Amino acid sequence: QEDQFKKVISHAKEYGYVFQSSEIYDGLSAVYDYAQNGAELKKNIREYWWKAMVQMNDNIVGIDAAIFMHPTVWKASGHVDAFNDPLIDNKDSKKRYRADVLVEEYTAKIEAKIEKEVTKAEKRFGDAFDKAQFLATNQRVVEYQEKIDTILKRLGKSLENEDLSDVRNLIDELDIVCPISGSKNWTDVKQFNLMFGTKIGASADSSMDLYLRPETAQGIFVNFLNVQKTGRMKIPFGIAQVGKAFRNEIVARQFIFRQREFEQMEMQFFIQPGTQQEWYDKWKETRMKWHLSLGMGADNYRFHDHEKLAHYADAAADIEFKFPFGFKELEGIHSRTDFDLSQHEKFSGKKLQYFDNDLQQNYVPYVVETSIGLDRMFLAVLSNSLQEEELENGTTRTVLKLPSVLAPTKAAVLPLVKKDGLPELANEIIDELKWDFNVTYDEKDAVGRRYRRQDANGTPFCITVDHQSLEDKTVTIRHRDSMEQERVAIADLRTIIGKAVAM
Ligand code: ATP
Repeated sequence: QEDQFKKVISHAKEYGYVFQSSEIYDGLSAVYDYAQNGAELKKNIREYWWKAMVQMNDNIVGIDAAIFMHPTVWKASGHVDAFNDPLIDNKDSKKRYRADVLVEEYTAKIEAKIEKEVTKAEKRFGDAFDKAQFLATNQRVVEYQEKIDTILKRLGKSLENEDLSDVRNLIDELDIVCPISGSKNWTDVKQFNLMFGTKIGASADSSMDLYLRPETAQGIFVNFLNVQKTGRMKIPFGIAQVGKAFRNEIVARQFIFRQREFEQMEMQFFIQPGTQQEWYDKWKETRMKWHLSLGMGADNYRFHDHEKLAHYADAAADIEFKFPFGFKELEGIHSRTDFDLSQHEKFSGKKLQYFDNDLQQNYVPYVVETSIGLDRMFLAVLSNSLQEEELENGTTRTVLKLPSVLAPTKAAVLPLVKKDGLPELANEIIDELKWDFNVTYDEKDAVGRRYRRQDANGTPFCITVDHQSLEDKTVTIRHRDSMEQERVAIADLRTIIGKAVAM
């Protein structure tokens, strides 16, 4: 699995999907650039989301709020006081860790040990091996499991109470050795705010401290009444937005999964107080359907209902996806009550209420939000699509089985040879198709190699122009996934491709 992840990362670079930011200066950690294919894939995911939210729903509209916001917004939202990670430093290595993650990683190590014992026993006992019995009775394994149980219980409890000294005690108790220096010399646990600060204005006395927004949601909340009034929206209604968010993440690993600059696709749905359970269930279901519509395999998704809730929520669930490093959060669905709007009322002194004509009553609406990371979705799509296939002739091919609707390039047009008017005809076909689709031309190397190149790029169709094409205006169209080829009329290409890549 780790291998698969490495392959995804190097494929992303080799085929122009994702580059490390400022690579010629040795990169900037946890910051990435989307390259020529990556920018297209990202745009297509964004559009697929936007269409499902805004275009398909009469009662959802989209906005594009600024990244900079008045600093009081983040006081009101609770981010200044509570958007923290518990940090711990190792005094010898001078390395900094997230305390909870450190303990989690330790847990994973113990789990790996259990796994090893199981594999060993499996080999030894062969068919007679009873895993459940082994887990329940093997002394060493039982001890490991008890250790994990203690950690999880303690960790859950201590983070809930935000009693960080408890995490510190746990780290001491577990004797956690610094992975870098091999030492156990830890500082106390400290709270670290994840927001990036900056300044607006030039002169020292007129400048103002600002934050780069750590989520897009607040841009929607502060515009709630503006949109409701100008759009004459009636509750229930939603406001959607896609945009950059910034978090000074400490444990910034796992490629684009956790970045310091990333994009969120969020939708805040404003409802009557008391109806939140119904809408929360509805949005959970709707969002899962959206994911499944991409055909990336139902087994790769699961819900994780939160027991421990953020300060603003009365219910929360994640849609988790099976990344190469395991099931992890891809999207969150949160029932946020009237927390945000009420806080903004309090801090701004402005009323943020809705007059409900049916109820003949004013109220601060409740909110159910759906929040998905565009970059995480990108990683889900990319890692799920990259496959190595054994072919009948004994060779293998690398193929990026992207959902066609999301593929950066929909078709490659390939003249069989670089002469006899074939390149000219190929270019005519491109000129015809490019109004509707992203298409590309490739005449270099033997056609088999060109097919492989397009497979690795995720292009769903290859269109080959040969001598027969000049006579009867037909071409062969090759399907990326099945590798099947059929002879079709040039005039039908638009319909064939259009059907396969429609949003
Ligand atoms: P995590 O627990 O993984 O840090 P979170 O619970 O803090 O995520 P939310 O604040 O709910 O995440 O943000 C909503 C979505 O934004 C997440 O589901 C995720 O897809 C995305 N996201 C959050 N932080 C990052 C990040 N640092 N890099 C990329 N995407 C992110």
